[in-house]
Amino acid sequence: MTGNDALEALLARLAASYDGSVFFSVADLRKWPKVAVSAFQKAELLKPAAPAVSVTCNGCGQHCSMPVEIVAEAGRSAAFVVCDKREDINRVDVPLERLERWQASCEAMAAFLAATLDINRPLNVATQVKRWDVGRLRSKRVEPVVLTIVDGLALELAGHSVPLDEVLSLKGGRLELDRQRLVDCVDNPAGGGRASESGAQRALRIATRCEQLKETGSRDFREVVAREEDVSVETIKKLLTKAKLLTSTRIAKEI
Ligand SMILES: [Zn+2]
Repeated sequence: MTGNDALEALLARLAASYDGSVFFSVADLRKWPKVAVSAFQKAELLKPAAPAVSVTCNGCGQHCSMPVEIVAEAGRSAAFVVCDKREDINRVDVPLERLERWQASCEAMAAFLAATLDINRPLNVATQVKRWDVGRLRSKRVEPVVLTIVDGLALELAGHSVPLDEVLSLKGGRLELDRQRLVDCVDNPAGGGRASESGAQRALRIATRCEQLKETGSRDFREVVAREEDVSVETIKKLLTKAKLLTSTRIAKEI
């Protein structure tokens, strides 16, 4: 198995998850090349998670799922399950290693992509089902990038949908993202070069974002949104004024 096979496996597990979060055991990770595992850990695509609270018992041969008991024995922790499937089996010892878990998530992937693209990720991202905001990628235009689960993991930007495994790969023990492919998407939006967002839509979107931040008690919401959008605070103020006007004159209804 190559490092890229391991990356494929990680992406496939995430895509198959129902909430964009999956756990891996030490045994799972041992099937992958060490260099791939450490690249994922370094990128925080794999993070240490709380130990498993139940495991599959391997004492009875029926693979029953049992809660884990942890006790101190001779100054060390020991774990076991109490199997109730067979009379001749009671306590089945569980190596502590079997409880160790690593978590991968689409949330962590979106954060990694934003850091790699050197773009600001919106704070307090309002997560929709199976969509994670990465941030706004700037080239000749500025376009929002969204991580989604469609058939597999994909990046949506400027009307394009790019399978993540086509732009993310492992080379020489490092994760590499094909930034140029994404920049090309931004510069050549799908759908005949039509602007993906009208001026009015933009103003209203910015206003909604400011409201969200205000509700969370953020006082410097204009500064935060200015950073997210990669524009000045003055521009944000102008857009808020525009949004207010749009709403009050009910033009918003016609957008
Ligand atoms: Zn059992």
